[in-house]
Amino acid sequence: MLLGRLTIDLAAIVANWRQLAALSQPAQTGAVVKANAYGLGLQPVAEALAEAGCDSFWVATLDEAVALRQILPRARIAVLGDQVEPNIQEFIGNRLTPVLNHPGAVEAWRRWAAPAAAWLHLDTGMHRLGLSPSEWQALLAETSDWQAVGMRGIMSHYACADDPDHPLNVQQRDRAVAAARAAGLRLSLGNSSGIYLGAKFRGDTVRPGMALYGLNPTPYTANPMQRVVTLEAQVLQVRQVDADAGTVGYGASAAAMPDQKLATVALGYADGLHRALSGKGHVYFAGQAAPIVGRVSMDSIVVDVSHLTPAVRPGDWAEVIGPNQSADTVADMAGTIGYEILTSLGARYARSYLPSGTD
Ligand SMILES: *Cc1c(COP(=O)(O)O)cnc(C)c1O
Repeated sequence: MLLGRLTIDLAAIVANWRQLAALSQPAQTGAVVKANAYGLGLQPVAEALAEAGCDSFWVATLDEAVALRQILPRARIAVLGDQVEPNIQEFIGNRLTPVLNHPGAVEAWRRWAAPAAAWLHLDTGMHRLGLSPSEWQALLAETSDWQAVGMRGIMSHYACADDPDHPLNVQQRDRAVAAARAAGLRLSLGNSSGIYLGAKFRGDTVRPGMALYGLNPTPYTANPMQRVVTLEAQVLQVRQVDADAGTVGYGASAAAMPDQKLATVALGYADGLHRALSGKGHVYFAGQAAPIVGRVSMDSIVVDVSHLTPAVRPGDWAEVIGPNQSADTVADMAGTIGYEILTSLGARYARSYLPSGTD
């Protein structure tokens, strides 16, 4: 029997996409659905977004793109981070658009695939993927007609878009805009947080991911997005600690207090409740916080429900992510980011999808 339930609100994802698209106009708004749509399920998410009018999607790998091509036969699909040279036939056969990250990939695409469309990735300061400024200058010097060799545009990625005061944002933007002008190409720039840096930081097309899924693209202020994820887990057992007390959980790291009432909830680090939440996080019953006591186990946690009314009983559902506690809040407490919480959601839940309302 499944003891957890994960509810994904497709109408909220669609509303978030529409909000980002309205804000970003006249820039075009795509959707990043890599890593199984940030753990939420590629097929239902991609179908809901396509029905809402999104026609361009970004994934990380060729395998993800091939899977998405089966789901959406007509959408534009770009692949951010796979090898291009050994896979040209597969790109072309599936009508996938690669992101060319280095001169060898540009050369191979020109020779074997042009004028099929591709994106040129410029490294404007992140030093992760993309052509370096000198590689770009060399290409620029030898190419006059970028459209003829299939280039759909230039893309680049911000390192610090969630911090509007970071000087790298303006530097990266200026380098990307200058490169797109020099080549006469369109520019794809903004991720979720980049969209909120303002109109000048977006480019001609934007690539939001996390904000679609309800995470906060503006961590310096209130979350403008709708919540998408609800995660609940069932209480397995409730115990009243004996007078002689003792400790709770692995490592005996927390004291059990006499008369304390402890509930064991069926969710652990194998389900995406990070072990870093040991002794720190909370779950909620009817809006009341129940602190995690001791270590997070693989399949369960123990929480203090001594003061809760009505009394917590076996079979009750604890809210782990929901109206009382966002994925971002859980992430903060675990010392990580909401992206990691969503992408580590496990497979042991009953997953249900609230309808998008677009079909
Ligand atoms: C993951 C990713 C995005 C989406 O970023 P969010 O912060 O989730 O909006 C956009 N562009 C690139 C290159 C990415 O790797």
